[in-house]
Amino acid sequence: PLKTAAGVKGGVERTFIAIKPDGVQRGMISEVIHRFERKGYKLVAIKAIVPPKALAEEHYGDLKARPFYPGLVSYMTSGKAPVIAMVWEGVDVIRQGRRIIGATNPLDAEPGSIRGDYTISVGRNAIHGSDSFESATIEIGLWFKPEEVYNWQFAHAEWIESKN
Ligand code: GDP
Ligand code: MG
Repeated sequence: PLKTAAGVKGGVERTFIAIKPDGVQRGMISEVIHRFERKGYKLVAIKAIVPPKALAEEHYGDLKARPFYPGLVSYMTSGKAPVIAMVWEGVDVIRQGRRIIGATNPLDAEPGSIRGDYTISVGRNAIHGSDSFESATIEIGLWFKPEEVYNWQFAHAEWIESKN
C-alpha cells in the first residue's frame, strides 16, 4: 500500500487540519480539537503559526486564478491571529475530517459540522482540512518538518480500533 506523510491510503491516514485566524479569534481552538479527539483520532502535530505569504500562496495554489485568492491569502497571513496547524491521525481521517468540518460554503454545511454550527460566510469558514490523500501528503509536508510530527500509540488503542 501507498505510504507517505499522510500515512497509508485507505488505512491509518494522517490529515492536515488548520484553524484559520477567524476560528482562533472566535475561540474555536478547543472546540475543533475536542471534536477530533472525542471521535477517536490522535493529534500527532500542532503549532501556532502566522504563515509567510509564500506558504499561504502555495497552500492555496490551486485557487490562484480565483477572484477571492488575494483576499484569501491576506486573511491567512494578516497576523491578527495565528493559524493553528495540526496533523490528525486515524482510520479514514481524511474523509471523516471533511465531514466533521462540513461543506466549504457554511450555508451548505450541515448543522452538527463545525462550519455548519459556527460560521455563515465562505470567506470566513474558520477551518481547513485536506480534501484527499494526495493533498494531505503535500500539505503536511508544506506546514511541518518531519521531526515535528510524532509517532505515538494510544495505550487504549484496542478500545478504539478493532482489527476485524
Ligand atoms: P475547502 O477545501 O472546503 O476549504 O474549500 P476550497 O479548497 O474550495 O477553498 C479553499 C478556501 O478558499 C475556502 O475554505 C474558503 O476559505 C475560500 N473560498 C472558497 N471559495 C470561496 C469564495 O467563493 N469566496 C471567498 N471569499 N472565499 C472562498
Ligand atoms: Mg480545499
